[in-house]
Amino acid sequence: MKARAFDYRRVASVAEALDAYAACEGEARFLAGGQSLLPALNLRLDAPDLLIDIGRIESLRGIAIEGDRLRIGALTRHAETLASPLIAEHAPLLTQAAAYMAHPAIRNLGTMGGSLALSDPASELPACMRALGAEFEITGRDGTRTVAADDFFLDLFENVIEPGEMLTAVRVPLPVPGTRMRFEEIARRRGDYALVGLAAHLVLTGETVESARLAFCSVGPTPMRAPTAEAALAGRPLDAAAIAEATAALADDLAPDEDEGFSAAARMHLARVLLGRVLPALREQETGEMAA
Ligand SMILES: Cc1cc2nc3c(=O)[nH]c(=O)nc-3n(C[C@H](O)[C@H](O)[C@H](O)COP(=O)(O)OP(=O)(O)OC[C@H]3O[C@@H](n4cnc5c(N)ncnc54)[C@H](O)[C@@H]3O)c2cc1C
Repeated sequence: MKARAFDYRRVASVAEALDAYAACEGEARFLAGGQSLLPALNLRLDAPDLLIDIGRIESLRGIAIEGDRLRIGALTRHAETLASPLIAEHAPLLTQAAAYMAHPAIRNLGTMGGSLALSDPASELPACMRALGAEFEITGRDGTRTVAADDFFLDLFENVIEPGEMLTAVRVPLPVPGTRMRFEEIARRRGDYALVGLAAHLVLTGETVESARLAFCSVGPTPMRAPTAEAALAGRPLDAAAIAEATAALADDLAPDEDEGFSAAARMHLARVLLGRVLPALREQETGEMAA
């Protein structure tokens, strides 16, 4: 099948992209890496009148420390996330997660902004952003607003970006002393979307867990935090009893669906297996040894 006919416009700035969107009388879409949008057009799951190619907007590129945050431009390719020394040092969860995403050809084109804007609950980066406590910069013709990752994802492929707004960057808090983080997933084959994935972010003081942020992929309509499991860990040593309690608590937190011949019970089982693997690995991890 081929895509329906559409107009195409390449733009050089965010302002030009937003103006082009506003001027379009039909449906417009921003085109970033095209790794999700172009297959959707070819399958006629989407049929916009205008594609606004944002792939050459320089201001959407770049990875830099700004104050106590790591700012990552929306056009950062997955391959750049994987290779960035700044991300490996300050947000290695993203380095680890990018290694699980698709294959090199897709990672060379797919972008951070595209993945987050798409808001596929099976994707790795949305879960990582919730675990990291990231903020999203969303720009419209009236200015830029900041939204916490926890408030960004609304439902399956739905988020708070309004028509005509663009995700321009994410800001990830720099890790405080005692931070440990780890991403793991279980998939049928390497590069497939996760059957279940887990982005885990802990802050420890000595043996004690000060705070825990656990975010799963593929177990609900959005990337899912696990507040009951997080509460089971907070304020206690990361020992076998705490890990067992957190793992049992997942039943209260996650809502996997039956799909692709994979039962909700099996997905819940895999979520427990992952948490049971990741927490002991974090316990063994030395602070300052977070790199992928
Ligand atoms: C075979 C295959 C396997 C894949 N496997 C995985 C995987 O394992 N894990 C995974 O996470 N992903 C996977 N992907 C998806 C891939 O990571 C995409 O790159 C990503 O989902 C979308 O990024 P993109 O830059 O290509 O966005 P595009 O396809 O260009 O756009 C996607 C959507 O986001 C919108 N958009 C893009 N950028 C912005 C922006 N800055 N602001 C607002 N809206 C925007 C577009 O209008 C469109 O609606 C796979 C894709 C393929 C084809």
